Amino acid sequence: MDIFERDRRYVAHTYRRFPLEVVGGKGSLVHGGDGREYIDMGSGIAVNIFGLGDVEWKAAVTRQLDRFQHCSNLYYAAPVADLARMLCERTGMERVFFANSGAEANECAIKVARKWAAEKKGAEYCNIITLKKSFHGRTLATLAATGQDVFHADYQPLPAGFLYAEVGDEAGLEALAREHPCAAILFECVQGEGGVMPVGQSWADAMRRVAEQYDLLLMADEVQLGNGRSGQLYGYMTYGLRPDVVTTAKGLGGGLPLGAAILGKRVADVLQPGSHGSTFGGNPVCCAGAINILERIDEDLLRGVRERSDDIVRALTGAKGIKNVSGMGLMLGFETEKPARDFAELALSKGVLVTTAKEKIRLLPALNIPMDLLKNAVRILKDCAAE
Ligand code: PLP
Repeated sequence: MDIFERDRRYVAHTYRRFPLEVVGGKGSLVHGGDGREYIDMGSGIAVNIFGLGDVEWKAAVTRQLDRFQHCSNLYYAAPVADLARMLCERTGMERVFFANSGAEANECAIKVARKWAAEKKGAEYCNIITLKKSFHGRTLATLAATGQDVFHADYQPLPAGFLYAEVGDEAGLEALAREHPCAAILFECVQGEGGVMPVGQSWADAMRRVAEQYDLLLMADEVQLGNGRSGQLYGYMTYGLRPDVVTTAKGLGGGLPLGAAILGKRVADVLQPGSHGSTFGGNPVCCAGAINILERIDEDLLRGVRERSDDIVRALTGAKGIKNVSGMGLMLGFETEKPARDFAELALSKGVLVTTAKEKIRLLPALNIPMDLLKNAVRILKDCAAE
């Protein structure tokens, strides 16, 4: 059996994989089992933010591997404390709970919000407002938080206590907060899986107003957009928000599984020994890699993200066969005349890896993708759209 047959036979069919075996890569070039090289405009869905085989990150990871690979969270490990300190210093927040994924980081946020509200306002203040078209993960609670019915259908009953607001409908948001005892608003600044749509400044302001009026926590899900991709360290910074909880994962680990819920002043002491935990959360090898990643997300890199973003948007906007372009920084989406999956397969056949989000093609390249590769990829994508 070849790799495709073995995978189809033995791996659960949860992913609609593209017909490509990845056997290696360097930076933003992926090496296929077919002997071809592909330009990576997806970076493993926003994970490999410095590309494949990044030398500095690998060195940081292997240095820690040479010391020890894991210790239980019952003991102290320097990479864990050092990464938490960096995250707090760069966000002005107080404490970090480490998990292994975006969904788990959001699970932590949900638990923190419920516990905070129960202690401060009463147990009935358990509801969490999320947004329609949002995506927060695949665990039962984060699926319930996800404001898209398609994800809910097969898994009833889901945990109760989630209410969905429509982006742009401030009166609707205010009514939810007024009519239900609520703990928090959980939101993405750019709805990724929902179609790469920024929520916009006026909606960000509306969420802040309602949160202030009803004493709700603001919780930013930065799993996909965070860690430099927006052109700022975190996307909420673009909108001048000061969330009480920030969740992040994907790019933070640079390719190893790591999630984090960063907690602000209001919730810094909500979690106490025994209230939450994870065996692998904050694994020292993942944290050592993440320290290296975070150290390199500086103003130079962020400027490069914004420049690359402007170049892509300029090149795609109004190009033949491209109906619209949306997004922020290096989290961009565009719609063509072709169904998104067909387009992604066509791009693959021409040597460019992209992903889809609803009807959009989604671009999530490495933050340091070389300009010449980026130009090539964009040219190929434009050709595909014009075909
Ligand atoms: N939140 C957002 C905004 C995401 O985009 C994702 C994944 O795509 C998740 C949460 C879930 O992250 P994970 O797949 O690491 O559990």
